[in-house]
Amino acid sequence: MTYFRTIFQADTKKDPDSLLRLFVSIALVSIIVITSVAGYAFYQVLQKNLVASAEEDAIKVSTALSEDEKARFTTAKSDGSVSVEVSPDNFFILDRDLRTFLAPFDIVKIKIYSSDCRIVYSTEAKLIGEVDRGNRRLARALAGAFDSKLERKEEVKDLADELKFNVDVVETYIPIRAHGRVIGSFEVYIDVTKYHQQTTNAALVSLGALCGILVVVFGISFLLIRRGTNELKETQDILRKQTLIDGLTGTFNKRQIELIGRREFARALRRREKGLADAEVGFIMIDIDHFKQVNDRYGHLAGDHLLQQFAERVTASLRSYDSVGRFGGEEFLVVLPGSNREQTLCVAHKIWSLVREEPFLIDGETLRVTTSAGVANVQHSDDDLLQVLKRADLNLYQAKSGGRDRVI
Ligand code: GH3
Ligand code: MG
Ligand code: MG
Repeated sequence: MTYFRTIFQADTKKDPDSLLRLFVSIALVSIIVITSVAGYAFYQVLQKNLVASAEEDAIKVSTALSEDEKARFTTAKSDGSVSVEVSPDNFFILDRDLRTFLAPFDIVKIKIYSSDCRIVYSTEAKLIGEVDRGNRRLARALAGAFDSKLERKEEVKDLADELKFNVDVVETYIPIRAHGRVIGSFEVYIDVTKYHQQTTNAALVSLGALCGILVVVFGISFLLIRRGTNELKETQDILRKQTLIDGLTGTFNKRQIELIGRREFARALRRREKGLADAEVGFIMIDIDHFKQVNDRYGHLAGDHLLQQFAERVTASLRSYDSVGRFGGEEFLVVLPGSNREQTLCVAHKIWSLVREEPFLIDGETLRVTTSAGVANVQHSDDDLLQVLKRADLNLYQAKSGGRDRVI
């Protein structure tokens, strides 16, 4: 139960992979349960049929026996009633006739009981005379009912007195009647080893086929679901990206770069409070100079193209753990974790010179572009990211008003 709760809870985490894992778990459990239940039911039905058909044979044989040999195993009493009894005179003839009669059948043993549960005849001679009073199945037969059961015998003596090992036997008790009354019972042992083996094989083959079908069905379903979950994952990835990334430049969007800045700001404060090293974080606000003129001269699409190339250059000049995001139209914010004032200035100059030194290629024309950058680092007095960003913005404003194309 806990297991299912766990996998169902996993599903609620909106993760397509856990949906797939849930399906695989359900499929495996289903295959095991369906195969086991079907196997058990199928085996029971086949076994029931086997016992029923053996019982039918036993009844036919005993009916024929009764017709031919009844006089040899019954005695009429003076009061007119008939009882099951084998007189010594009749024994040898009965025994010979029975063995001859039963030889063509798969019968390994036969017993004849009198109404007081005494064995008056058996193909296993040493049993004759025994009384089997506690035998409930015999009691049922003496009450008029047939009773059959499949049993496995480790060893059994057949009619030719030969020992047979590991034999599947259907034991059937068949009432013997005279004048409408039950006067005794036959007990017939039919060897069904061969049929039982066939039955077991048929059950195993059917189960194998069923298992194969289930595996194919669940396999196809798995592939279809996996295709669906993969599409779902891709869509989720796209959506997740859209919430983080600016569609035009591929850098972080404003919300995400602010979030990164806030996280780094908090980390720097924490490290500073603990007196740890690496409690620095640098911020650079960069803005393309006279960008409006690019739009006016080359068109908005060319402006877009410049923005993309500009973003690529800025990204290429950063370390893997630095981040850049589009803060406004042609204004970008760079977050430099662990960078002190000098290092931040250094990165700002690197970006500034990378942009101004190599012209951009727009619509087949080369275009020289400059930028202005405002730099700020976290200071002791800062208790909010906005204070740092305000300083960077102020420095950017100063760079612009001081004539652009510079880092302040
Ligand atoms: P300054 O040197 O003072 O920064 O001048 P500027 O022209 O770069 O700045 P200003 O704020 O006057 O103009 C920015 C322009 O950027 C105006 C706007 O149309 C353009 N812009 C904003 N977003 C986009 C965009 O996504 N694509 C394009 N092509 N242009 C954009
Ligand atoms: Mg500008
Ligand atoms: Mg601007």
